[in-house]
Amino acid sequence: PSLRHEEARRHVETNVDEFWRYMRSKLYKLKDSVKKEDIELLVNAMLKDGQALHRSAVNDLYDLKNVDDIDKWRLMESMELGEIIQKRLNSLQHPKNCHNTKLFVCEIKNNCGFGCELHHVVYCLITGYANNRTVVIPATPWQYAPSGWETVFQPIGAPCLQEKGILPERDPHNILRPDVSSLIGVENDMRINADYLPLAVPDDIADRLLRFHGDPPAWWIGQFVKYLFKFQPSTQKAIEEGIKKLNWTTPIAGIHVRRTDKVNHEAGKHEVEEYMVYVEEWYDLLKKRQPVLKKRVFLASDDPDVIQEIQRKYPDYDFISDQDVSRSANPQNRYQLTSLYGVLQDIILLSRCNYLVCTFSSQICRLAYELMQTHNGDASSNVQSLDDMFYFGGQTEHIMDVREPHDPKEQNEIRLDWNDSVAIAGNHWNGYSKGRNRRTGETGLFLAYKVKDKLKRAKMPLYNVTDS
Ligand code: GDP
Repeated sequence: PSLRHEEARRHVETNVDEFWRYMRSKLYKLKDSVKKEDIELLVNAMLKDGQALHRSAVNDLYDLKNVDDIDKWRLMESMELGEIIQKRLNSLQHPKNCHNTKLFVCEIKNNCGFGCELHHVVYCLITGYANNRTVVIPATPWQYAPSGWETVFQPIGAPCLQEKGILPERDPHNILRPDVSSLIGVENDMRINADYLPLAVPDDIADRLLRFHGDPPAWWIGQFVKYLFKFQPSTQKAIEEGIKKLNWTTPIAGIHVRRTDKVNHEAGKHEVEEYMVYVEEWYDLLKKRQPVLKKRVFLASDDPDVIQEIQRKYPDYDFISDQDVSRSANPQNRYQLTSLYGVLQDIILLSRCNYLVCTFSSQICRLAYELMQTHNGDASSNVQSLDDMFYFGGQTEHIMDVREPHDPKEQNEIRLDWNDSVAIAGNHWNGYSKGRNRRTGETGLFLAYKVKDKLKRAKMPLYNVTDS
């Protein structure tokens, strides 16, 4: 290791020790304090110094992450491996002869939001990839584009769509029958419960992916989103023109504030202050590394009122947002082409932010996170969710291994032993996570740092032909 690497490592070491010494001495003082004013003084000092100590440690870790051009190496790895996957998908989706090819015909039958529908198409493509089948999405009117998916995006399975007599019969049981083409209607609750579905990644790329990326499943799903985000020229033009108007420059932080129909049905309401705490923190860190003349934030939201509120509350920031009403997501034009352009543009720009705060309960936030991974080396820690942990709708259990045993201290906590694993339900972002101990069957809380992701690998075709 280089001197810079060793110095960065020593800084982290010192920081961690100093952090604990500080906490311990202050907590002992707190224990002996009786006067309310003394307690308040101490707690305020701990909050302030604690934040500064944390920031310093995060900064040292940033150095450690980027020292010796490791960041360039990560980016190179991500691009190279990404290109391999894109080539594989391309060859799978463009067979020379459709009559000799097993197809997976996917009818998207639900009427959900754009992110939800796009994730269903991703689900079909992953199923196709894992079963060596060309995916075909039949041309049908689509709520977001009345003349069909293929008028906005590049068609999926185009060469085979045009051939007559090729569509198979519907598979009433929604299982992929071996050796024949299948036609399956994909709906919200329809799931082929297969071990190749996310959060699994292909066994043949798992080791390489794990070396450079902190969240391999997100990177893997991102490759499918990237493959799908290929537009017709008219769409491309509309998006580019929209972006030009916004005066986009980096570095920039992004926030996605999902409100309207989601709030109180599928997710809680989060105030702008909750997003901005993280944004402020990110800018404070950035200032340690480079001059920041203007703090800029890209705001995407389905609620047109958020922009005024946030501008009023944070006058020292420049907020960039698409305020073209015809492109916004208000209920009147939600399913029109212009509104589709608006949402595509928002997802693309969120994915290009250097840091993003959003809610993983929203498919738009998850799409942005997935896509973000494909333009970076490892952007798994560039996104902060205010609610759920990252997931893929219909995923198999998210399993984590225990790094350290946990003794329950309170009634809602569970015991974890060496060699246990948990099916994780969520991180409460207060130091605790919730999950089910797969050995004892108990569900409850434990300290979040005591578990770590266990990557699920699935055997998938190797597609060696295009790896050169
Ligand atoms: P979810 O409901 O947030 O999980 O995501 P969906 O994509 O399934 O449905 C939300 C819909 O609301 C989207 O398809 C958009 O039409 C709209 N929407 C949500 N957030 C935004 C946003 O930031 N920008 C735009 N333009 N539309 C949004």
